[in-house]
Amino acid sequence: MRLRGCIGTNNDAVDLLIERGQIADIVYAAGSPCDFGDANLRLSAGFVDLQVNGYGGMDFNDSATTTEQIAEITRRLWRTGVTKFCPTIITESAEHISKCLSNLVRAADGSPEFQHAFAGIHLEGPFISTEDGPRGAHPRQHACPPNWEQFQRWQEAANGRIVITTLSPEWPEACKFIERAAGAGVVVAIGHTAATPQQIADAVSAGAKMSTHLGNGSHAKIDRHVNYIWEQLANDDLWASFIVDGHHLPPSVVKCFLRSKGINRSILVTDAIAAAGCPPGKYKLGNVEVEVLETGRVCLPGTPYLAGSAVEMHDSIGKAVLYSGVTLDEALQMATANPAEVIGQTGNFGRIEKGAAADLVLFDWDETATKLNVVATIVNGEIVYHSSTGKEH
Ligand SMILES: [Zn+2]
Repeated sequence: MRLRGCIGTNNDAVDLLIERGQIADIVYAAGSPCDFGDANLRLSAGFVDLQVNGYGGMDFNDSATTTEQIAEITRRLWRTGVTKFCPTIITESAEHISKCLSNLVRAADGSPEFQHAFAGIHLEGPFISTEDGPRGAHPRQHACPPNWEQFQRWQEAANGRIVITTLSPEWPEACKFIERAAGAGVVVAIGHTAATPQQIADAVSAGAKMSTHLGNGSHAKIDRHVNYIWEQLANDDLWASFIVDGHHLPPSVVKCFLRSKGINRSILVTDAIAAAGCPPGKYKLGNVEVEVLETGRVCLPGTPYLAGSAVEMHDSIGKAVLYSGVTLDEALQMATANPAEVIGQTGNFGRIEKGAAADLVLFDWDETATKLNVVATIVNGEIVYHSSTGKEH
């Protein structure tokens, strides 16, 4: 297939020659006919989302979720341009977490769509803070200190597919755990934490590599200078993920955070919950009830605490441009190459380059509205979603 679109800051029109599911060559589009696409549209590598709890009413954290539902989430995410993602399992009982992990392994065996999209599991918790605010919507009774033996049992249930784990370094057991997990190739992320600046620094020395949704999962009020947010922002050894949905962080904070962390260390995640892609109302996140308001804000009913988001990656990219003044290419980098790099997948996906998987998004960029409209999503060299039909193929 010869796929046409523009790439790069100069809006260069290119044709991607796609063979056997890979980008075989990139040539500058001349007058020759192409099979699909258009020089008025733009091309990006497929979006990579490191934090997805569920979508479209289906939840990876429900132990009864079926392989067919997991395949359906994968197909629904194609509409948002996401072609690779990390299903995210949050704090719950050990047994419940094991069941949810096993469901994902079974789904990868039973669904080729999910297997292709499956970038590994993000285990968010249960080794997080028990304090209100930092623990967010995670149930307090299951938040606990890091336990390497337990983690290994989960990694076994997950067939070794846990690639990120989010924890709080406030536990005395944290540094030892981080050394072991990082040594085993798992990305250790700091999040849902009430840690001191020294504990943050120690965690990074022990091998922690990322901050999870920095600025969220935190106290409503903290010391203005000495706190875990500045410490993580200032640490150049930490990548950081951000939820840019207009609710989790005010626009001015998004701008300051992205500028201080830098484009090359920042990652956009949706942290989408089951209610993403659904109308406003009350839904379950794990065993916790959450409410999606008309504004798109997701909170614990009757509290100001956010409980995940309903944003979709293509909207998040547009909002990052709007709030922070980054270029479209920079925002795309934070949704493609950066998340692929942090989990060690550079060369496999996240970039448009020869030999990479032909997982791509063809889109229209409305510069005035800073809005990205997905026109088509290509997975493994096949058009799997086209906006003109509104259907996955
Ligand atoms: Zn979280």
